Amino acid sequence: MALSKEAYQALEKVVGPDWISNDPAILEADHVGGGVHGGGDIKRPAASIQPETAEEVQGIIKICNKYKIPFSATTTNPPPGLDREGVIFIDLKRMRKLKIDEENLYATLEPGVSFAALQGELFKRGLVTFVPMCGGNVSVLANTLNVGEGAISYRYGDRGYRRVLATEWVTAAGDVLKIGSSALQDDYFWGEGPGPDLRGLMASANLESPTTRGICTKMGVRVFPFIEEEMVPQGDAPVTSLLLPSNRFMYYNFVFPNKEAALNAIYEIGKCEIGLFVMTVPPWFFAMARARGSAEVLTGAAGFWDYWDNHEAPLIRENPNQTTCRALLYGIGSDKRLAYEEKVLLSICEDYGTTFARASRRTTDETHFMSSDAIVSNLAGGRFTSVILFESLDHAYKCTDIVNANTKKHVPPVLDDYGTTNWFLPFEMCHICKLECLRFASVEDAGELALLMDDCHKDFVDVGAFPVRPAAERYGPKWENYPEKTKKFKDLLDPNHLAPPIS
Ligand SMILES: Cc1cc2nc3c(=O)[nH]c(=O)nc-3n(C[C@H](O)[C@H](O)[C@H](O)COP(=O)(O)OP(=O)(O)OC[C@H]3O[C@@H](n4cnc5c(N)ncnc54)[C@H](O)[C@@H]3O)c2cc1C
Repeated sequence: MALSKEAYQALEKVVGPDWISNDPAILEADHVGGGVHGGGDIKRPAASIQPETAEEVQGIIKICNKYKIPFSATTTNPPPGLDREGVIFIDLKRMRKLKIDEENLYATLEPGVSFAALQGELFKRGLVTFVPMCGGNVSVLANTLNVGEGAISYRYGDRGYRRVLATEWVTAAGDVLKIGSSALQDDYFWGEGPGPDLRGLMASANLESPTTRGICTKMGVRVFPFIEEEMVPQGDAPVTSLLLPSNRFMYYNFVFPNKEAALNAIYEIGKCEIGLFVMTVPPWFFAMARARGSAEVLTGAAGFWDYWDNHEAPLIRENPNQTTCRALLYGIGSDKRLAYEEKVLLSICEDYGTTFARASRRTTDETHFMSSDAIVSNLAGGRFTSVILFESLDHAYKCTDIVNANTKKHVPPVLDDYGTTNWFLPFEMCHICKLECLRFASVEDAGELALLMDDCHKDFVDVGAFPVRPAAERYGPKWENYPEKTKKFKDLLDPNHLAPPIS
């Protein structure tokens, strides 16, 4: 559906002629980039527009409402709602203002600020933020609203929306909504009120996209104290890492003869409050590491499948219960802290019957502080899906039976992992645990992964498990009919239904 000349000119007046386009080549390049899971019926938008300020965002939304034009907003990946005709594609990357308040431990930022940019600035100040494993290139604001987890959630707390302070939104009707301290003064240090806390009205961790109700144009977000020492970058993209200061960090790998011993030891590590993070290390990660950097990485790297078949699979078949774990010990605050953490860890390992425990000779990190190459690693096998749950460690362990039984139904073409230990990534000192079960298939067989995911979600409902992005029609009736309530909020904030629909 073509955009009327009158509407196009009105939009052009808001951002200037350099920041709007209906050139098919530009539209094609703009709207498909970055998507990993891809798929779906994505249509080319009617125009692509790049605002620089909240006032410009508001101007665009008002024009969309006047002419009844649908819109979708994003920063990095394709947003929802692109299956509609005639969409205005709002790209928020030009909105890049960032202010860090060192003393009060928060940053105020716009949607275009990436984790790499924020983390780089924080390191200079002895502070840190969570970098998600999808990569340091993604938007802090978008990720914090939607998911916002990293391995360091183990120590600093899980779910992005709990780090959100004051926010500024342009609702889908074109009104500006300021939440928290920004409603009273130009300061984003505090998120609640005035009056009821409206943050939950707009953000929606793991459920539908917040753009279904509006566009967040500014956010105050918590940051955390960190070390003063330098983290030295090494390597060339996409294979890069940080050399961590040896007086502050120590990586430990340790192996248990079975899953139960490993998870009990992890629980104990959380109870003793040591480490920046701790996790199990499923053998797929070893195969991914082998394929990383391969020229075939994006097309189903032979390196991954070969290494799996010839090295990992025989080992797992021999002993599917053997479980490798990794912890990053964290000497923050005192020079004696690292030695203390090592002593506690080794004592726990001994109590739970470890067969191997050794510190890495050089402590480097590829994933958890800058995450520059994680996305490439994830594609190493061709296509993957992650069956993800947020649970107690205990319940996560029980739910692996569901995932393993369903996986068997789809092998082949899905990769057979022989029931090996999945990825347990505990948060909040093991009070919560993310269970992530990566499942791989070739690009051609990607559809089988979607069927596997659906089978798992069907069974999760019955055991009260909490998966990521649950289907509203399946989970709604079990979860207080939340989709009905969400629709009421949407009607209030998007009366003309121009923002992406709730899927
Ligand atoms: C391989 C892989 C690994 C991942 N690992 C992690 C992980 O470890 N931790 C984690 O937290 N996440 C992880 N994710 C998910 C990740 O959080 C999202 O993919 C990421 O946040 C996308 O960021 P983005 O900048 O691309 O956001 P976008 O794609 O731009 O936006 C994400 C969503 O937010 C909406 N949105 C964007 N901007 C705004 C705005 N200004 N106002 C309102 N809504 C907006 C978009 O419409 C979209 O629905 C992973 C994803 C992949 C593919």
